[in-house]
Amino acid sequence: MRIGVYPGTFDPLHHGHSDVIARSLRVLDQIIVAVAPNPRKAPMFDLAERVDMAKIATKDFGRVEVEPFEGLLVQYVRQRGAHAIIRGLRAVSDFEHEFQMALLNRKLDQGIETVFLMASEEYSYLTSSMVKEVASVGGPLHDFVHPEVADRLRQRFIGCR
Ligand code: ADP
Repeated sequence: MRIGVYPGTFDPLHHGHSDVIARSLRVLDQIIVAVAPNPRKAPMFDLAERVDMAKIATKDFGRVEVEPFEGLLVQYVRQRGAHAIIRGLRAVSDFEHEFQMALLNRKLDQGIETVFLMASEEYSYLTSSMVKEVASVGGPLHDFVHPEVADRLRQRFIGCR
């Protein structure tokens, strides 16, 4: 069975992420969405909330698991019996950082490949920050996130007002 790990902050998981997951499932048998704590990025939602929202957003896919992960990514990938790390590329600006990470992970474990999927043009502009920005001013979210994730975002921003 070919398993891929899709790591990220997912604060929250949006349609651009879902699109990457859907396309990964065309070449892999199972995808594990691995939600990282990533305090460096100061996420708005805590880890449990991000895991929860990612589960909601991927519940209709089948063949997708979501769980939190901490520590060294390649170690986690091995533990889960996977051999591929999935990453999405939106623009040239993503490339340098992603390239560095892929080389580092290859150095740490040569048996694991990083597979890059190009964002579809429909979602290439989409970021979690942008989704939060729109939510913060009460804008429409249906084009960006799963409806239940949109509800969570609205609740969060109502709570902030
Ligand atoms: P990280 O902090 O690891 O970058 P993100 O949640 O921001 O976590 O992104 C996780 C992965 O999804 C990254 O590989 C990122 O490039 C990719 N990604 C983010 N937004 C999109 C999008 N709109 N289309 C395709 N891939 C995306």
